[in-house]
Amino acid sequence: MKIHVMFSVDWEGTSLIEDNLLAMRELSNEFPHIPRIQFLNPAHFISSENWDATSAKELVPLGISSKDEIGLHIHARQRLIEAANVKFRNRPSFFGGESVNFLGEYGGDVPITSYTVDELDKIIKYSLKILAQNGFHNIQSFRAGGWCANEKVYEALLKNNIIADSSPVPASLVANRYPNTYLHTLAEELWSDTTTLSYPYLKTINGSQIKVFPNNCCLADYVSFEQAQEIYQSCVKNASDEKKNAYFHYGWHQETLAVAHRPQKDGSFPIKTTAYFKRVHKLMTYLTRESKKGNCEIIFSLINKMI
Ligand SMILES: [Zn+2]
Repeated sequence: MKIHVMFSVDWEGTSLIEDNLLAMRELSNEFPHIPRIQFLNPAHFISSENWDATSAKELVPLGISSKDEIGLHIHARQRLIEAANVKFRNRPSFFGGESVNFLGEYGGDVPITSYTVDELDKIIKYSLKILAQNGFHNIQSFRAGGWCANEKVYEALLKNNIIADSSPVPASLVANRYPNTYLHTLAEELWSDTTTLSYPYLKTINGSQIKVFPNNCCLADYVSFEQAQEIYQSCVKNASDEKKNAYFHYGWHQETLAVAHRPQKDGSFPIKTTAYFKRVHKLMTYLTRESKKGNCEIIFSLINKMI
């Protein structure tokens, strides 16, 4: 029996702090057998009043290894939406009402499902163009900001030759961090069938197929090492009971791996240490040890290897 294990990284487009990029590099140096799916955010490369993109071309590659897959991650940030020549919407927010200002910008908390297929097509096309200009070509995989993808998003992805999505997430894991929010409600509405035991599947949109890879263990900001380990073990047990192969998909955010901007009541955003590097490191250590035991063959995989 085999288990396909995936680690993916969401790049939010909000910061490129050396501590986080070096922590990303440290993981790939220590665990060279674990490649990552890097869902890159084009906003890193787009300057605005609140974001200077001049050093992004040098900084982004610090966090990426040659073994990693490059995918696309989109949040509806104002500087991206307007650069793509689409009218910006400032609601609804993942937290209810209007978008919340984060580091001087709006839109990161507005689900991309708020836009039409034509608008999404423009945003995705523009995003791919910006990433290509910065050396990232042939992108085949996607994850939506806040895991908010629907058939409209899939239609626009397929128009742009993106044939895989990793947006489904178990709503219960989103509630670990943001219970009683619109973000949680959206996960319940969009992904009512997604659980921690979900497998990749095919979905047909207008006669074309998109392959869907659920983020069934969510991300490190939401799921502790202990819970991730428990979910991994339940994936293995369930597959073994049903005599089939298993699938497990965890990850983290580039922006919060080692340090993160933390909003304070006075409106400031000091940088504070996070615990997520430790969680990811512990899980990679555990899985590496498990893979040597040989009870269940672990394949550290990528989406583009399974399409
Ligand atoms: Zn995101």
